[in-house]
Amino acid sequence: MLLKTKGVSINIEETLVGKVTRLPENLTSDSFLLVDDEIQAYPDKAHLGILSKQNDIYDLDNGSVVLKIPTLEHLTEGDIVSVGADGNIHTLYRVDSYHNTLLATERCNSNCLMCSQPPRDKNDVSFLYGIHKKLIPLIPKDCVELGISGGEPTLMGELFFDMLEKIKHELPDTEIHVLTNGRSFAWDHMAYRLSQVDNNRLMLGIPVYSDYYQVHDYIVQAKDAFYQTIAGLHNLARYNQRIEIRVVLHKLSIPRLVKLAKYIYKNLPFVEHVAFMGLEYVGYTPHNIDKLWIDPMDYNKELGEAVEFLANKGLHVSIYNSQLCVLPENLWQYARKSISDWKNSYMPECQSCSKLEDCGGLFTWNLKKHSEHIKPFTTNVLELSSGIE
Ligand code: SF4
Repeated sequence: MLLKTKGVSINIEETLVGKVTRLPENLTSDSFLLVDDEIQAYPDKAHLGILSKQNDIYDLDNGSVVLKIPTLEHLTEGDIVSVGADGNIHTLYRVDSYHNTLLATERCNSNCLMCSQPPRDKNDVSFLYGIHKKLIPLIPKDCVELGISGGEPTLMGELFFDMLEKIKHELPDTEIHVLTNGRSFAWDHMAYRLSQVDNNRLMLGIPVYSDYYQVHDYIVQAKDAFYQTIAGLHNLARYNQRIEIRVVLHKLSIPRLVKLAKYIYKNLPFVEHVAFMGLEYVGYTPHNIDKLWIDPMDYNKELGEAVEFLANKGLHVSIYNSQLCVLPENLWQYARKSISDWKNSYMPECQSCSKLEDCGGLFTWNLKKHSEHIKPFTTNVLELSSGIE
Protein backbone atom coordinates (compact mmCIF):
# COMPACT_ATOMS: atom_id res chain seq x y z
CA MET A 1 0.00 0.00 0.00
CA LEU A 2 1.35 3.41 -0.99
CA LEU A 3 1.84 5.73 1.99
CA LYS A 4 4.37 8.13 0.54
CA THR A 5 4.78 10.04 -2.67
CA LYS A 6 6.85 12.98 -3.84
CA GLY A 7 6.59 15.97 -6.13
CA VAL A 8 8.20 19.35 -6.64
CA SER A 9 7.32 21.85 -3.93
CA ILE A 10 6.83 25.57 -4.39
CA ASN A 11 6.46 28.09 -1.55
CA ILE A 12 6.77 25.48 1.23
CA GLU A 13 9.31 26.30 3.91
CA GLU A 14 8.22 24.15 6.82
CA THR A 15 6.33 20.86 7.03
CA LEU A 16 2.60 21.40 6.59
CA VAL A 17 -0.05 19.02 7.94
CA GLY A 18 -3.60 18.94 6.65
CA LYS A 19 -6.56 16.96 5.38
CA VAL A 20 -6.98 16.32 1.68
CA THR A 21 -10.03 16.99 -0.44
CA ARG A 22 -10.82 16.82 -4.14
CA LEU A 23 -13.75 19.21 -3.71
CA PRO A 24 -12.88 22.95 -3.77
CA GLU A 25 -16.10 23.74 -1.89
CA ASN A 26 -14.86 21.62 1.06
CA LEU A 27 -11.57 23.49 1.45
CA THR A 28 -10.66 24.94 4.84
CA SER A 29 -7.55 26.65 6.15
CA ASP A 30 -6.18 23.26 7.23
CA SER A 31 -6.78 21.31 4.03
CA PHE A 32 -5.05 20.62 0.75
CA LEU A 33 -6.80 20.49 -2.61
CA LEU A 34 -5.92 17.38 -4.62
CA VAL A 35 -5.76 17.99 -8.34
CA ASP A 36 -5.76 14.83 -10.42
CA ASP A 37 -6.51 16.47 -13.75
CA GLU A 38 -6.66 19.98 -15.11
CA ILE A 39 -7.37 22.53 -12.37
CA GLN A 40 -10.45 24.56 -13.38
CA ALA A 41 -9.69 27.67 -11.34
CA TYR A 42 -7.39 28.59 -8.51
CA PRO A 43 -9.52 28.07 -5.36
CA ASP A 44 -10.87 31.24 -3.80
CA LYS A 45 -11.46 29.65 -0.36
CA ALA A 46 -8.70 29.64 2.27
CA HIS A 47 -6.59 26.49 2.05
CA LEU A 48 -3.22 25.09 3.07
CA GLY A 49 -2.00 24.21 -0.39
CA ILE A 50 -2.53 22.38 -3.65
CA LEU A 51 -1.20 18.89 -4.39
CA SER A 52 -1.20 18.30 -8.11
CA LYS A 53 -0.15 15.81 -10.76
CA GLN A 54 0.21 18.66 -13.22
CA ASN A 55 3.52 20.11 -14.33
CA ASP A 56 2.38 23.67 -13.89
CA ILE A 57 -0.29 25.81 -12.31
CA TYR A 58 -1.05 29.31 -13.47
CA ASP A 59 -2.05 32.14 -11.15
CA LEU A 60 -0.14 30.65 -8.21
CA ASP A 61 -0.56 33.72 -6.02
CA ASN A 62 2.26 32.74 -3.58
CA GLY A 63 0.26 29.71 -2.43
CA SER A 64 1.92 26.46 -1.33
CA VAL A 65 1.90 23.87 -4.09
CA VAL A 66 3.41 20.49 -4.88
CA LEU A 67 3.52 19.72 -8.62
CA LYS A 68 4.45 16.68 -10.72
CA ILE A 69 3.18 14.17 -8.14
CA PRO A 70 3.14 10.77 -9.89
CA THR A 71 -0.04 9.56 -8.21
CA LEU A 72 -2.71 10.72 -5.79
CA GLU A 73 -5.00 7.71 -6.16
CA HIS A 74 -4.02 6.32 -2.77
CA LEU A 75 -5.51 9.35 -0.98
CA THR A 76 -9.13 9.36 0.15
CA GLU A 77 -11.26 12.37 1.03
CA GLY A 78 -10.36 13.37 4.61
CA ASP A 79 -7.03 11.53 4.84
CA ILE A 80 -4.37 13.57 6.64
CA VAL A 81 -0.94 14.12 5.12
CA SER A 82 2.28 15.93 5.90
CA VAL A 83 3.90 17.89 3.08
CA GLY A 84 7.57 18.77 3.39
CA ALA A 85 9.67 21.48 1.81
CA ASP A 86 11.38 18.67 -0.11
CA GLY A 87 8.07 17.74 -1.79
CA ASN A 88 7.60 14.53 0.22
CA ILE A 89 3.97 13.73 0.98
CA HIS A 90 3.47 11.23 3.82
CA THR A 91 0.07 9.78 4.65
CA LEU A 92 -0.29 10.23 8.43
CA TYR A 93 -3.90 9.17 8.92
CA ARG A 94 -6.26 7.17 6.72
CA VAL A 95 -9.97 7.69 7.34
CA ASP A 96 -10.86 4.23 6.00
CA SER A 97 -8.50 2.37 8.31
CA TYR A 98 -8.63 1.15 11.91
CA HIS A 99 -4.85 0.84 11.93
CA ASN A 100 -3.51 4.35 12.24
CA THR A 101 -0.32 4.81 14.24
CA LEU A 102 1.78 7.78 15.30
CA LEU A 103 5.53 7.19 15.11
CA ALA A 104 6.83 8.77 18.34
CA THR A 105 10.56 8.46 17.63
CA GLU A 106 12.92 6.10 15.81
CA ARG A 107 15.23 6.02 18.83
CA CYS A 108 15.19 3.02 21.13
CA ASN A 109 17.06 1.88 24.23
CA SER A 110 16.76 -1.77 23.15
CA ASN A 111 17.91 -3.39 19.92
CA CYS A 112 15.80 -6.56 19.59
CA LEU A 113 17.09 -9.28 17.29
CA MET A 114 13.74 -9.36 15.45
CA CYS A 115 12.95 -5.63 15.54
CA SER A 116 10.62 -4.87 12.65
CA GLN A 117 11.61 -1.20 12.61
CA PRO A 118 15.30 -1.01 13.54
CA PRO A 119 16.08 2.00 15.69
CA ARG A 120 17.92 4.99 14.29
CA ASP A 121 19.98 7.19 16.56
CA LYS A 122 18.78 10.56 15.41
CA ASN A 123 17.26 13.40 17.32
CA ASP A 124 13.84 13.27 15.72
CA VAL A 125 11.63 13.91 18.76
CA SER A 126 10.90 17.60 18.34
CA PHE A 127 10.43 17.29 14.56
CA LEU A 128 7.98 14.39 14.88
CA TYR A 129 6.21 15.95 17.84
CA GLY A 130 5.79 19.15 15.81
CA ILE A 131 3.94 17.08 13.19
CA HIS A 132 1.82 15.19 15.74
CA LYS A 133 0.80 18.44 17.43
CA LYS A 134 -0.73 19.56 14.13
CA LEU A 135 -2.11 16.12 13.29
CA ILE A 136 -3.94 15.20 16.52
CA PRO A 137 -6.58 17.98 16.39
CA LEU A 138 -7.37 17.04 12.75
CA ILE A 139 -8.08 13.36 13.47
CA PRO A 140 -11.83 12.61 13.23
CA LYS A 141 -13.43 12.52 16.68
CA ASP A 142 -14.96 9.12 15.92
CA CYS A 143 -11.53 7.51 15.47
CA VAL A 144 -11.92 4.10 17.13
CA GLU A 145 -8.31 3.26 17.85
CA LEU A 146 -4.96 4.98 17.53
CA GLY A 147 -1.55 3.35 17.97
CA ILE A 148 1.64 4.96 19.21
CA SER A 149 4.86 3.22 18.31
CA GLY A 150 8.58 3.76 17.86
CA GLY A 151 11.41 3.23 18.50
CA GLU A 152 10.65 3.62 22.17
CA PRO A 153 7.96 6.27 22.70
CA THR A 154 8.93 7.00 26.33
CA LEU A 155 12.27 8.37 25.07
CA MET A 156 10.25 11.45 24.12
CA GLY A 157 10.45 12.29 27.84
CA GLU A 158 7.87 14.83 29.00
CA LEU A 159 6.66 15.27 25.40
CA PHE A 160 5.37 11.67 25.54
CA PHE A 161 2.98 12.63 28.32
CA ASP A 162 2.14 15.93 26.59
CA MET A 163 1.19 13.96 23.50
CA LEU A 164 -1.00 11.54 25.47
CA GLU A 165 -2.74 14.48 27.16
CA LYS A 166 -3.37 16.14 23.82
CA ILE A 167 -4.83 12.91 22.44
CA LYS A 168 -7.07 12.49 25.48
CA HIS A 169 -8.29 16.07 25.12
CA GLU A 170 -8.95 15.86 21.36
CA LEU A 171 -10.04 12.23 21.15
CA PRO A 172 -11.64 11.28 24.46
CA ASP A 173 -13.49 8.29 22.96
CA THR A 174 -10.53 6.78 21.11
CA GLU A 175 -8.74 3.64 22.35
CA ILE A 176 -5.00 4.37 22.56
CA HIS A 177 -2.52 1.55 22.22
CA VAL A 178 1.11 2.34 23.02
CA LEU A 179 3.90 -0.07 22.08
CA THR A 180 6.73 0.35 24.61
CA ASN A 181 9.42 -1.92 26.00
CA GLY A 182 8.30 -0.76 29.44
CA ARG A 183 11.84 -0.23 30.74
CA SER A 184 11.35 3.48 31.46
CA PHE A 185 8.59 2.65 33.92
CA ALA A 186 11.14 0.99 36.23
CA TRP A 187 11.53 4.59 37.39
CA ASP A 188 8.57 5.26 39.61
CA HIS A 189 8.11 8.87 38.52
CA MET A 190 7.49 7.73 34.91
CA ALA A 191 4.71 5.36 35.94
CA TYR A 192 3.30 8.03 38.26
CA ARG A 193 3.37 10.63 35.48
CA LEU A 194 1.51 8.25 33.17
CA SER A 195 -1.15 7.76 35.80
CA GLN A 196 -1.58 11.56 35.86
CA VAL A 197 -2.68 11.42 32.21
CA ASP A 198 -5.64 9.55 33.66
CA ASN A 199 -6.95 7.96 30.48
CA ASN A 200 -8.70 4.64 30.99
CA ARG A 201 -8.74 4.13 27.22
CA LEU A 202 -4.95 3.86 27.24
CA MET A 203 -3.32 0.42 27.01
CA LEU A 204 0.42 -0.31 27.01
CA GLY A 205 1.68 -3.25 24.94
CA ILE A 206 4.91 -4.44 26.60
CA PRO A 207 7.06 -7.38 25.43
CA VAL A 208 8.34 -10.09 27.76
CA TYR A 209 10.17 -12.80 25.84
CA SER A 210 11.26 -15.16 28.58
CA ASP A 211 10.88 -15.89 32.27
CA TYR A 212 14.68 -16.04 32.46
CA TYR A 213 16.53 -12.71 32.44
CA GLN A 214 19.46 -13.84 30.30
CA VAL A 215 17.23 -15.03 27.48
CA HIS A 216 15.11 -11.87 27.50
CA ASP A 217 18.18 -9.61 27.67
CA TYR A 218 19.80 -11.50 24.81
CA ILE A 219 16.71 -11.23 22.60
CA VAL A 220 16.42 -7.48 23.23
CA GLN A 221 20.21 -7.04 23.19
CA ALA A 222 20.20 -4.91 26.33
CA LYS A 223 21.67 -5.70 29.75
CA ASP A 224 19.23 -5.48 32.67
CA ALA A 225 16.28 -5.05 30.31
CA PHE A 226 14.39 -7.94 31.93
CA TYR A 227 14.64 -6.50 35.44
CA GLN A 228 13.72 -3.03 34.24
CA THR A 229 10.71 -4.30 32.29
CA ILE A 230 9.44 -6.39 35.20
CA ALA A 231 9.96 -3.49 37.65
CA GLY A 232 8.20 -1.25 35.14
CA LEU A 233 5.25 -3.63 34.87
CA HIS A 234 4.86 -3.66 38.65
CA ASN A 235 5.09 0.11 38.90
CA LEU A 236 2.43 0.47 36.21
CA ALA A 237 0.21 -2.02 38.01
CA ARG A 238 0.57 -0.05 41.27
CA TYR A 239 -0.77 2.97 39.40
CA ASN A 240 -3.57 0.92 37.92
CA GLN A 241 -2.45 1.21 34.30
CA ARG A 242 -3.81 -1.17 31.66
CA ILE A 243 -1.20 -3.58 30.30
CA GLU A 244 -0.91 -6.11 27.49
CA ILE A 245 2.03 -8.53 27.41
CA ARG A 246 3.41 -9.26 23.95
CA VAL A 247 5.44 -12.41 23.27
CA VAL A 248 7.06 -12.87 19.86
CA LEU A 249 7.29 -16.53 18.83
CA HIS A 250 10.66 -17.70 17.51
CA LYS A 251 13.43 -20.20 18.10
CA LEU A 252 14.76 -18.31 21.14
CA SER A 253 11.44 -17.76 22.93
CA ILE A 254 9.78 -21.13 22.22
CA PRO A 255 11.88 -23.40 24.53
CA ARG A 256 10.69 -21.54 27.68
CA LEU A 257 7.26 -20.49 26.39
CA VAL A 258 5.25 -22.61 28.81
CA LYS A 259 7.47 -21.50 31.72
CA LEU A 260 6.91 -17.90 30.61
CA ALA A 261 3.13 -18.42 30.64
CA LYS A 262 3.38 -19.72 34.20
CA TYR A 263 5.64 -16.80 35.15
CA ILE A 264 3.09 -14.33 33.77
CA TYR A 265 0.29 -15.96 35.74
CA LYS A 266 2.25 -16.00 38.98
CA ASN A 267 4.07 -12.67 38.76
CA LEU A 268 2.02 -10.49 36.41
CA PRO A 269 -1.58 -11.57 37.07
CA PHE A 270 -2.74 -7.95 36.75
CA VAL A 271 -2.21 -7.81 32.97
CA GLU A 272 -5.34 -7.44 30.88
CA HIS A 273 -4.24 -9.30 27.77
CA VAL A 274 -1.47 -11.63 26.62
CA ALA A 275 -0.71 -11.73 22.89
CA PHE A 276 1.45 -14.46 21.33
CA MET A 277 2.75 -13.09 18.06
CA GLY A 278 4.14 -14.70 14.90
CA LEU A 279 7.50 -13.46 13.64
CA GLU A 280 7.65 -10.63 11.07
CA TYR A 281 10.15 -11.15 8.25
CA VAL A 282 11.28 -7.53 8.06
CA GLY A 283 13.73 -5.18 9.76
CA TYR A 284 16.43 -7.14 11.61
CA THR A 285 14.73 -10.53 11.27
CA PRO A 286 16.08 -11.47 7.80
CA HIS A 287 19.60 -10.74 9.12
CA ASN A 288 19.09 -12.94 12.19
CA ILE A 289 16.91 -15.56 10.56
CA ASP A 290 19.17 -18.50 11.47
CA LYS A 291 18.88 -17.61 15.15
CA LEU A 292 15.14 -16.99 14.98
CA TRP A 293 13.37 -19.18 12.45
CA ILE A 294 11.25 -22.09 13.47
CA ASP A 295 8.33 -23.19 11.34
CA PRO A 296 5.15 -22.16 13.22
CA MET A 297 3.78 -25.67 12.72
CA ASP A 298 6.70 -26.94 14.82
CA TYR A 299 5.85 -24.86 17.91
CA ASN A 300 2.13 -25.61 18.08
CA LYS A 301 2.61 -27.91 21.07
CA GLU A 302 4.36 -25.23 23.19
CA LEU A 303 2.02 -22.50 21.94
CA GLY A 304 -1.08 -24.56 22.68
CA GLU A 305 0.13 -25.38 26.20
CA ALA A 306 1.03 -21.75 26.99
CA VAL A 307 -2.22 -20.35 25.57
CA GLU A 308 -4.46 -22.88 27.28
CA PHE A 309 -2.66 -22.57 30.60
CA LEU A 310 -3.29 -18.81 30.70
CA ALA A 311 -6.82 -19.05 29.27
CA ASN A 312 -7.75 -21.69 31.85
CA LYS A 313 -6.51 -19.33 34.57
CA GLY A 314 -8.94 -16.72 33.27
CA LEU A 315 -6.53 -14.46 31.38
CA HIS A 316 -7.51 -12.94 28.05
CA VAL A 317 -5.20 -14.52 25.48
CA SER A 318 -4.74 -13.95 21.73
CA ILE A 319 -2.63 -15.36 18.94
CA TYR A 320 -1.55 -12.75 16.39
CA ASN A 321 -0.02 -13.04 12.92
CA SER A 322 -0.83 -16.71 12.40
CA GLN A 323 -2.69 -18.56 9.67
CA LEU A 324 -5.57 -20.90 10.42
CA CYS A 325 -4.17 -23.71 8.27
CA VAL A 326 -1.03 -23.75 10.44
CA LEU A 327 -2.86 -23.68 13.79
CA PRO A 328 -4.61 -26.68 15.35
CA GLU A 329 -8.36 -26.17 15.38
CA ASN A 330 -8.60 -25.91 19.18
CA LEU A 331 -6.50 -22.72 19.02
CA TRP A 332 -8.59 -20.99 16.35
CA GLN A 333 -10.71 -19.35 19.04
CA TYR A 334 -7.62 -17.35 20.10
CA ALA A 335 -6.46 -16.37 16.59
CA ARG A 336 -7.13 -12.72 15.68
CA LYS A 337 -7.01 -10.92 12.37
CA SER A 338 -4.27 -8.75 13.80
CA ILE A 339 -2.24 -7.57 10.83
CA SER A 340 -2.78 -3.92 9.86
CA ASP A 341 -4.53 -3.57 6.51
CA TRP A 342 -1.61 -1.81 4.83
CA LYS A 343 0.78 -4.71 5.49
CA ASN A 344 -1.62 -7.67 5.18
CA SER A 345 -1.40 -10.15 2.29
CA TYR A 346 -2.49 -13.64 1.32
CA MET A 347 -0.76 -16.34 -0.71
CA PRO A 348 -2.09 -16.99 -4.23
CA GLU A 349 -3.45 -20.35 -3.04
CA CYS A 350 -5.48 -18.59 -0.32
CA GLN A 351 -7.93 -17.44 -2.98
CA SER A 352 -9.38 -20.95 -3.16
CA CYS A 353 -9.44 -21.42 0.63
CA SER A 354 -12.82 -21.83 2.29
CA LYS A 355 -11.47 -20.14 5.46
CA LEU A 356 -10.18 -17.04 3.67
CA GLU A 357 -12.73 -14.75 5.33
CA ASP A 358 -11.80 -15.90 8.84
CA CYS A 359 -8.04 -16.11 8.39
CA GLY A 360 -5.73 -13.20 9.25
CA GLY A 361 -3.31 -14.08 6.44
CA LEU A 362 0.32 -12.97 6.45
CA PHE A 363 2.42 -9.86 6.69
CA THR A 364 3.20 -8.81 3.11
CA TRP A 365 6.91 -9.30 3.84
CA ASN A 366 6.22 -12.81 5.16
CA LEU A 367 5.26 -13.90 1.65
CA LYS A 368 9.02 -14.47 1.38
CA LYS A 369 9.29 -16.48 4.61
CA HIS A 370 6.37 -18.45 5.98
CA SER A 371 5.36 -21.86 7.24
CA GLU A 372 5.88 -24.77 4.85
CA HIS A 373 2.41 -25.96 5.83
CA ILE A 374 0.17 -23.28 4.38
CA LYS A 375 -2.52 -25.12 2.50
CA PRO A 376 -6.04 -24.01 1.53
CA PHE A 377 -9.05 -25.60 3.16
CA THR A 378 -11.45 -27.06 0.66
CA THR A 379 -15.18 -27.03 1.30
CA ASN A 380 -16.26 -30.32 2.68
CA VAL A 381 -18.60 -32.06 0.21
CA LEU A 382 -20.59 -33.55 3.11
CA GLU A 383 -21.04 -30.09 4.67
CA LEU A 384 -22.29 -28.83 1.33
CA SER A 385 -24.67 -31.69 0.70
CA SER A 386 -26.12 -31.44 4.23
CA GLY A 387 -27.49 -28.04 3.22
CA ILE A 388 -29.38 -29.46 0.19
CA GLU A 389 -33.02 -30.16 0.79
S1 SF4 B 1 -4.66 -21.16 2.95
FE1 SF4 B 1 -4.44 -18.98 3.27
S2 SF4 B 1 -6.48 -18.23 3.80
FE2 SF4 B 1 -6.48 -20.45 4.05
S3 SF4 B 1 -6.04 -20.77 6.20
FE3 SF4 B 1 -4.08 -20.90 5.10
S4 SF4 B 1 -3.24 -18.83 5.11
FE4 SF4 B 1 -5.39 -18.70 5.70
